[in-house]
Amino acid sequence: MIATTPETLHHPYKYDTLTAKRVDIHRHIEGSIFIDQIVEIAKKMRVAFDSETIEFMQAKVEQGLAVPSLESFIQMLSTRWLRLLIAKVMIDRRTDEKSRAVSTTIDMFFKTVITHAFEVEELQVLNLLFSPRNLSVNGDLHPDKLHLLLETSDITPEEKRIYETLILLSEYHKYPRGITWQEYTRKVGKLRRTVERKFGYKKRLTLTLSLRRNKFLGDLDFLTDEENKYQNLRDLHHLFVAEMYDYLDICGNENDANGSLEKLFPFLASVQTLDIPTTVHVAEMTEEHKKTAESNMSHALSLPHPPSMLAHSVLLNLATQDNDKMLRAQETIIHERLILLLNISSNMFTGTGMAYAPDMEDTLLEHTQNLEKHRLLLYFLDPQNSTWLDDTMLCVNTDDPVIIGKLGTTQATEIDKVAKAASLIAKNIYGYVLSPTDFIKTLDKKIQQIVLIQDQRIRFARENARSKEIIWPKGVVKKH
Ligand SMILES: [Zn+2]
Repeated sequence: MIATTPETLHHPYKYDTLTAKRVDIHRHIEGSIFIDQIVEIAKKMRVAFDSETIEFMQAKVEQGLAVPSLESFIQMLSTRWLRLLIAKVMIDRRTDEKSRAVSTTIDMFFKTVITHAFEVEELQVLNLLFSPRNLSVNGDLHPDKLHLLLETSDITPEEKRIYETLILLSEYHKYPRGITWQEYTRKVGKLRRTVERKFGYKKRLTLTLSLRRNKFLGDLDFLTDEENKYQNLRDLHHLFVAEMYDYLDICGNENDANGSLEKLFPFLASVQTLDIPTTVHVAEMTEEHKKTAESNMSHALSLPHPPSMLAHSVLLNLATQDNDKMLRAQETIIHERLILLLNISSNMFTGTGMAYAPDMEDTLLEHTQNLEKHRLLLYFLDPQNSTWLDDTMLCVNTDDPVIIGKLGTTQATEIDKVAKAASLIAKNIYGYVLSPTDFIKTLDKKIQQIVLIQDQRIRFARENARSKEIIWPKGVVKKH
């Protein structure tokens, strides 16, 4: 039996009135699936969750929504439901063929997100981020916790079966048996080919392999450890040349105690020597961590090549006459025509984007009403910095549309929200008139350029990468 999803978790299916161009170049697959879509996928795969399991999933999402924070945000990433789905497929089909269960479930998962983006939202361009490591078992689904859960008396028979299967399916700090990160990337790349065949040039799907760094996961540790580093670089190069992905991204919680990305940049630099375009989530932080933000930002921009896109960067507003690091960062962003990704609702949700105001803590739930307190938006619209807005390749995105919007969001509704917030800031704070429509026109003009820059960069990088020999440092014994 399929339980009905409560109203709050349903798909919004409500779209803009203002936005003309629909281009979303920062959307994570992990934050793009609603519980009712998971249930739909299960049905299509001829398996059905019992109502208790669906209630369990809904309760988890609601808990996360009630206390917006980076922590709850990470917990809500829908790949955890993907893992449940994989387990369910294996149970109901009584199959030992793990790799087939994993593989077909991932297919369905991606197709659901892509179909929604292109056919329901009618996006013209989508850059989808995917993190293979998110499929590994962590947090509540860590085998140790699952063993504990199995010992509790109030679990349903289905939960018991799911937990047992998840334990079988996973190994701590490894990918689910049946798929490696290389295979996962190849699967995603092949799906892109299907999209290209279906839509031709009318729709563009670009792909970002995102290395997620947080306390649950260890993508980067795994990729960069001495034993595997060279083989991983070789595979990354090969997969990029084969058009299985377009950008390599670093993503992670910079607000925690080890928030410095410093150690990761040497690996990113090696990736760049192979002509693979890089992007980075950077300075997505609260103001109290501004020293780390400055250091992360300047490291990112002093790589051999600056990253093609910078996500969030909310603390760029710290650039003032006496802040050299951020001022230089701003200059590089403009000079190198780096694409700056504004993910405003996501920032409000996780508390990383607000202008400094401690009393706002308790109003986080009304984050959508606080958009006009977003640091970077405030900074951009300050008449003193007006050329900075004109000169920057700025793009508004959804980031994790299911999670951040509370009721769900789309690229079009995000642009509308930002445009309305911009209009309010202009009027209430700086005292000039800026209509939402005019702000959208500014963004639309940039979008044309951004799409062009993006296409050229990927094509150029791939041509270069094709002819690139991997030169191993002296003394390194290659692994075969
Ligand atoms: Zn992101």
